[in-house]
Amino acid sequence: MFDRISDGFRSAINKIRMKDDEKSLKKALDELKKNLLKADVHFKTVKELLRKVEIETKKAGIGRANFLKALEEALKEILTAPGNYGFVYASKPPTVVMMTGLQGSGKTTTTAKLAYYLKNFKKKKVLMVAADLQRLAAVEQLRQLAEQNELDIFYDENAKNAVEVAKKGVEEAKNKFYDVVLIDTAGRLAIDEALMNELIEMKKEVDPNEIFYVADSLTGKDAINTAKAFDEKLDITGVILTKYDGDSKGGVALSIAHQVGKPLRFIGTGEKIADLEVFVPDRIVSRIMGAGDIEGLVEKTAAVIDEKEAKKLTKKLKKGQFNYNDFLAQLEQMKKLGSMKNLLGMIPGMGKMLKQLGDIDLENSQEIKKIKAMINSMTKKERENPYLIKESASRRRRIAQGAGLSVQEVNRINKQFQNAAKMAKKFAGKKIPNMDELMKM
Ligand code: GDP
Repeated sequence: MFDRISDGFRSAINKIRMKDDEKSLKKALDELKKNLLKADVHFKTVKELLRKVEIETKKAGIGRANFLKALEEALKEILTAPGNYGFVYASKPPTVVMMTGLQGSGKTTTTAKLAYYLKNFKKKKVLMVAADLQRLAAVEQLRQLAEQNELDIFYDENAKNAVEVAKKGVEEAKNKFYDVVLIDTAGRLAIDEALMNELIEMKKEVDPNEIFYVADSLTGKDAINTAKAFDEKLDITGVILTKYDGDSKGGVALSIAHQVGKPLRFIGTGEKIADLEVFVPDRIVSRIMGAGDIEGLVEKTAAVIDEKEAKKLTKKLKKGQFNYNDFLAQLEQMKKLGSMKNLLGMIPGMGKMLKQLGDIDLENSQEIKKIKAMINSMTKKERENPYLIKESASRRRRIAQGAGLSVQEVNRINKQFQNAAKMAKKFAGKKIPNMDELMKM
């Protein structure tokens, strides 16, 4: 996710020698400057970062270790603006959040992503309010997102006034004891007075705990300028940067907090509902410096992996009973974690390797598509018992036909499946697998 910036850092670090050497420090700083500007980091932020790194490195003594430490500290300072990080709840629920931004920035999508994150990862009761009456399809879009992802929504089909809808939505959230209410507001193609007045009035009426500005990272410096304009009028409490997955430069994420003076709170990293990352400066710095983000990884997986289910599965595995239904259930759990690439990027040292790997997309993997097609052509009994398929050629033929696969492919996949179940039986519950046996897999 921060490839470009990480690369720039690495090449700057390589320029600095171990001993007291002003020339090599200057070279490293120049390299850093060049790379940060190339990555589209705001020039004022670059200047400030370099200033801090130079002062601190000199103070501690020129050398790689001190340079690295200074860089890490300076980055943290640049990324940290006064305000909250992560999602912070009001002392008295519901926590009221206004989601603001220009049209097309990803506001509606992000509203659903945030609701999904709070519901599934933080176990909160979340209500989304469709108060974007400007863009014709916005209410319908939020309704669909709610339906697809089992999220709660408040909308009013006959509403003419967005402020009224927002007020009613917050009332509903209070009456039904919601923890959080996320209000999707109207955007415009550009900032205009009517839009701002609507938002200012809404703010007055619903008295939000948070006002998030949703910025499209692909708009580069404009994202920073519009965020500033919204902040001047609304006094926003944080920024959410969307479409970071498509941003090959990535510098906006590094400069926006420093330039706007408000913290970057979340980053959108894809079109899917789970593609939202919490932005915590320390963790991000650790990722940029190539040290991974174990804390973030643990938080993500712990919320998705249901302990009871995991125990049940281990029990089944021990008996060699892993079947096609279990496979589908596991796949669903994995999907909740979002992009595999982002997830693996949180593991120390994986960042660089991942670049060669490309994205591992569970939903678009050819092999998984085949397995899913196979499962769709199976009877209930076959899903529960892969051995039935092994024992009957006519079953295999029928499944192959239904799935649009060859009989050989069905054989191969089913055999793999049984082998995996056998192996799982051997290893389930054992802490350290026998290497010899592992090699045979
Ligand atoms: P709104 O007008 O601000 O409500 O924008 P939408 O929520 O409709 O989003 C506009 C487009 O951006 C949609 O096609 C979204 O799927 C897409 N989008 C939003 N966030 C992201 C993101 O983080 N990554 C990618 N790749 N696309 C995104």
